[in-house]
Amino acid sequence: MPKISVLPSDDKTNGWSALLPARKPYDQLSGDVRADWVVVGIGYAGLAAARRLAENRPNDKIVLVDAQEAGEGASGRNSGFAIDLPHNVGASLEELERSHAHMRLARTAISHLEEMVTTHGIECDWERRGKYHAAVSEQGVETILKPFAQELDAIDEPYRWVEKADLHGELATPHFTAAVYTPGNVLMNPAALTRGLADSMPGNVSIYEHTPVLEVDYHNGVHLTTPGGSVFAPKMIIAVNGLAQQFGFLKNRLLNFAAHASLTRQLTADERKAMGSVENWGVTPANAFAGITMRYTKDHRILIRQDIYFKPDFRESDAKRAQVRRQHLRLFRERFPMLDNVEMEHTWTGFICLSRNDAPGFGKVSGNVYTAVCQNAVGVTKGTISGMLAADLATGQDNPLIADIESLGSPQSLPPRPFLDIGVRAKLAWEIWRARAEA
Ligand SMILES: Cc1cc2nc3c(=O)[nH]c(=O)nc-3n(C[C@H](O)[C@H](O)[C@H](O)COP(=O)(O)OP(=O)(O)OC[C@H]3O[C@@H](n4cnc5c(N)ncnc54)[C@H](O)[C@@H]3O)c2cc1C
Repeated sequence: MPKISVLPSDDKTNGWSALLPARKPYDQLSGDVRADWVVVGIGYAGLAAARRLAENRPNDKIVLVDAQEAGEGASGRNSGFAIDLPHNVGASLEELERSHAHMRLARTAISHLEEMVTTHGIECDWERRGKYHAAVSEQGVETILKPFAQELDAIDEPYRWVEKADLHGELATPHFTAAVYTPGNVLMNPAALTRGLADSMPGNVSIYEHTPVLEVDYHNGVHLTTPGGSVFAPKMIIAVNGLAQQFGFLKNRLLNFAAHASLTRQLTADERKAMGSVENWGVTPANAFAGITMRYTKDHRILIRQDIYFKPDFRESDAKRAQVRRQHLRLFRERFPMLDNVEMEHTWTGFICLSRNDAPGFGKVSGNVYTAVCQNAVGVTKGTISGMLAADLATGQDNPLIADIESLGSPQSLPPRPFLDIGVRAKLAWEIWRARAEA
């Protein structure tokens, strides 16, 4: 009967939701509620799982709960890239097949989200703008971008090789040496998307926010205890990403990291002119740990995502965020020296979950419990598809994509703490030092 000892507690400084109108949260759960299914977690995984359960079983009652509000967990505080390609493709036949499986899964997720955005009129600046996978150093070009381009050739994926001078024109910064531009990526405001998905749930889904699950009992169905009451359902889908261990599953298999992002204030018309009046764009770094994800948003702000480190306690201080903000401002000024009066308006922390072998925590974990967790930092697409497929698996729907997601394996076990902490921190420090030219 697991008692939950670590609850999510994200900061209140998420820039994406600060840009949106005030919103009335769904009620906290009170009293004893019975349902046919319970889903925990209102991120991309839980939202997709609840919707798919509701579609597969229109007469069933589905309860969806979260300790926080839609758009305030990691799903609403990421960089807003719905990524269709693996970051690294790999050349062996096995790796190529893995890449194809990955793309089928990611593109199904993007099509699903696009359909939701269109059908329900979700205003989240959803746009297929593609993305630039960019290297700062010659070394990054040689060791990461060129092999990546060759691998895209091998799987017959379209891309455009962009040299420094053209990149300067397209992104308004001379910072990068080259980039591989691929067209399938979508950019959006992730808090607006997450809220919109929650607000357009089918009628047989009941949402409860500010409803942390404090305790779970798995005897004869699933009994969840919350501060104001309880939920009983015969079956559950766990969609809490890195906190799945709290529910008794995937123990010693999940690695939880903190990541930070900042958004500047809106640029003025003169500042946009000084920049070169470019259109909105998104850049992912050749090295995800040493480098910086950046966006120029549709409403003329610059996003900086940088500083990832091992943080298994899911907590970060305001002092650390203040330090990160100063760092983000310095990185921004280095890249956009013509915008020297522009400040960071929002800086926030979010938590991401990785596995040692990049595999998802997907599947049936006991007779009546399924997980759709561990999105390996690409949760817009991976979370969405794992939620959809967990619901299909749980309701016995035949879907060939279940074989695709299962082919990605499951999270490998990790050494015990404190050896784990020492090993992960040392490996990350080495990775950042090795790729320091990409910073
Ligand atoms: C700064 C940053 C930038 C990122 N950029 C990108 C990007 O551009 N593209 C991309 O694809 N991914 C990105 N990611 C990763 C992405 O945000 C995550 O992979 C994704 O949000 C995971 O979705 P999820 O639904 O699995 O989990 P989450 O979004 O973490 O949702 C899990 C939910 O479970 C709830 N929960 C946990 N425990 C309990 C409990 N006991 N009771 C009740 N509720 C509970 C939490 O409150 C939370 O809302 C980024 C992440 C960060 C932090």
